[in-house]
Amino acid sequence: MSNSRAFSSEDYTVGWICPLPCELAAAVSMLDERHSPPLAQCNVDDNNYVLGRIGAHNVVMTCLPGGSKGKVAAAVAATRMTVTFGSLRFLLLVGTAGGVPNGKDVRLGDVIISHPDTRCGGVVQYDFGKTVQEGRFVHTTTLNKPPRVLRNAVSALLVQYMCRPAALSIQLSQIVKKAGYSRPDSETDVLYESSHDHPLEAKTCFRCDTNKSLQRPARSWDGPVAHLGVVASGDQVMRWATRRDELWGELKMDCFEMEAAGLMDDFPCLVIRGISNYADSHKNNAWRQYAAAAAAAYARELLGIVPGGLAAKIPSIVRGEMDSGKEMTVVRGLLWRATPDGMDDGVAKQQPSLVSGKTFAHAGPEGFMDCDSIEPDCPITDMEVFDAPPPGLGSPESGSVPHSPV
Ligand SMILES: [Zn+2]
Repeated sequence: MSNSRAFSSEDYTVGWICPLPCELAAAVSMLDERHSPPLAQCNVDDNNYVLGRIGAHNVVMTCLPGGSKGKVAAAVAATRMTVTFGSLRFLLLVGTAGGVPNGKDVRLGDVIISHPDTRCGGVVQYDFGKTVQEGRFVHTTTLNKPPRVLRNAVSALLVQYMCRPAALSIQLSQIVKKAGYSRPDSETDVLYESSHDHPLEAKTCFRCDTNKSLQRPARSWDGPVAHLGVVASGDQVMRWATRRDELWGELKMDCFEMEAAGLMDDFPCLVIRGISNYADSHKNNAWRQYAAAAAAAYARELLGIVPGGLAAKIPSIVRGEMDSGKEMTVVRGLLWRATPDGMDDGVAKQQPSLVSGKTFAHAGPEGFMDCDSIEPDCPITDMEVFDAPPPGLGSPESGSVPHSPV
């Protein structure tokens, strides 16, 4: 369905970025209404956009240029999008990823949503850090968590379906089917033992040993399961189970992708990824389209939770007033202040600690507080740098506060 009404760039409040064209095609199939391009774009913006509406939200969609992938390409596309569409409130990064089946029961076609936990803000840049004695690699960066409005929506969607665990899966299945995507046969969802590598140069798994596949209990439904989890982002395609498992032992991530690390610190953004492979040497594209559609269907459901009026009240991205802007954090014993460029109003960007998972903010005369327990507009009145935990926040042994300096 199309709408011939003339829209201005200021009418769009949601940005939707897909790394791949096939992921954008799935996204477009989720639109309730498609708007007529083109709109005037700023001189530096060479993105190609699809405009439309999902529920109460006018959405602008784009994918990365052919041959481009990774965090830099994603950051460039997002920057140009937000320049042309100055009223965008938040971004959704929606696409496919390699799943990590070690922790959660992640299967092909499932959806991972970046979600803060006790260790990070939902996305870890697994290849950023430093090499120290004995060649040991130490991760030294953390990335912002999704904006409050999207975390609220994720929780609301969770609550909506909590009493009926299969209902969301069935709903996503129906959306995907209505959009014209069919689910590959469940028998093609094969998870091999980590030690069983795919033969080099073999185009299919015909020669792979099915006796080396893991037997998992059948699900009572075939639809996508949505998992809140940790997204590992880096500049390489992960397709070796041995390395996948090594990193999981350290970071406990639920999927691998290549773009989120370019967006999380500079844009209010949620990552939604459909699982199209297991990040191992057997990786192929058989599930990619379905996984892309499943992720897009979840994004559509999520937007249905966010009231249009609420989105309009959130400051736009270009004003630099992210909802996480009034928090500070302790990262490895240091209280970080990361003031957004151009802002001198005493606010600081929140960066949860990979080590402790705790974030702390100075809250005036009351002392330091756990950021998760304070309101977003709690005033930040002072900032200091510590090389030891602030008093009253627990001992290092408790794991609640990090204590080793960076
Ligand atoms: Zn194989």
